[in-house]
Amino acid sequence: MKWHFLGGASQVTGSKHILETGETSLLFDCGLFQGRRKEANEINRNLGFAPGSIDAMVLSHAHIDHCGNIPTLAQQGYRNPIHTTTATADLLPIMLLDSAHIHESDAAYLNQKTNRRGLPPIIPLYTKEDADAAIRLIQPHKYLEPVALPGGVSFVQMDAGHILGSAVTRIEIPRPGTTPLRVGLAFDLGRYNLPLLNDPVQMKDVDILICESTYGNRHHEDALNEGEDLREAITRTLGRGGKVIIPTFALGRAQEIIYLIAQLRQRGEIPEVPVYLDSPMAQAVSRVFGKNKSYLDEDFHALYKLMGPIMSAKWLIFTESVAESKAITSSSKPSIVLAASGMCEHGRILHHLKHGIENELNSVLLVGYQAAHTLGRRLHNGDKTVRIFGDEFTVRAEVESLRSFSAHADRTDLLRYVREAAPRHVFLVHGEQDQRESLGDLLRHELNIDVHLPANGDVVNFEKLLIP
Ligand SMILES: [Zn+2]
Repeated sequence: MKWHFLGGASQVTGSKHILETGETSLLFDCGLFQGRRKEANEINRNLGFAPGSIDAMVLSHAHIDHCGNIPTLAQQGYRNPIHTTTATADLLPIMLLDSAHIHESDAAYLNQKTNRRGLPPIIPLYTKEDADAAIRLIQPHKYLEPVALPGGVSFVQMDAGHILGSAVTRIEIPRPGTTPLRVGLAFDLGRYNLPLLNDPVQMKDVDILICESTYGNRHHEDALNEGEDLREAITRTLGRGGKVIIPTFALGRAQEIIYLIAQLRQRGEIPEVPVYLDSPMAQAVSRVFGKNKSYLDEDFHALYKLMGPIMSAKWLIFTESVAESKAITSSSKPSIVLAASGMCEHGRILHHLKHGIENELNSVLLVGYQAAHTLGRRLHNGDKTVRIFGDEFTVRAEVESLRSFSAHADRTDLLRYVREAAPRHVFLVHGEQDQRESLGDLLRHELNIDVHLPANGDVVNFEKLLIP
């Protein structure tokens, strides 16, 4: 019984694992590796296994670093089921088709240059057809529904409290002459008290836990402060007649912010100005939230009773066309604008920043992780001049990073989760090395368990590991 750590072990991108039992091979997650173009291209095209040898796949959630390379799997011949939750099944077509579109248009753009130089054409990693082929394989399940896999293996998924539909997975693998081996997967574990989402469900009684460690060395501010932090920033900006510009991820954060704004408006705690969601993808995702209300928490349902469907509120304006988007950028009326991308790398947010960043009445609220070398990170660092579309702009708007926002468990949450799951061995994945090491030391010290920090490509025999 072998576990293959194929991707996302020592970094937070490209999650990919295989369980090989002798009777069956099963794939857990198939994320896109994101990084420098050449390296990413090579890693994403070479899956590291033959897709035809895999009997089934189980997916944790719809973030692209966990699901984004599924179309490559389909392109290379995979035709077996992809098991996931019903909400993730609704989100996947949006995520995969958008990703296919990005790969196709990137290749088309680069080919304009290579054509001129007479070089061979660049082929996109995958196309819309590959994404469609993958989407047809999805088999949705409810949380806690036991699902049988080939080789006598079974699993259940529970709410990970990370994004809509996200799941932790508990697998049972038969062993001759003894009880099944129980393996827990907490790939992207959420936090307590996140808006809209239920708290993570605690997995119990596992022999082995494979756990994320993104913030293994970090303490977050309480997620309960999110609404208050947002209220302060919004009232201050609107009070001086400015616009609030919020770069936001299309899945998760955009819906969270809209929900918090709805709550603040309902309580009369912020002025009633128009709120624009200027991201067609975030709009599509928001509709999936509306369809999957049963996944959302009690606070959401209480507000829903008071206000009705938040996504169809009159004050919330979805902009479809580029012309509508331009009308907002050129207006200086006080408003709240949400647009992608979350790290200000591309998308409509760049137009809003270009037109709004030099106005000292405005503010830019950073509500998510800002990776190194992105425009979002430069704003977060307090740079006074930034380049947008090749031109230089002076940052006169107020820039504020709201630190209470994060969808990942922090050090304390992770310690608590591992303690309650009570494994004999824990494998820390999905974290930079310093984060994994620091969490590893804490777990060894506090829980007195075996902690492993696997590298990509490592293969571990779980049965042997458990022999006393
Ligand atoms: Zn995630």
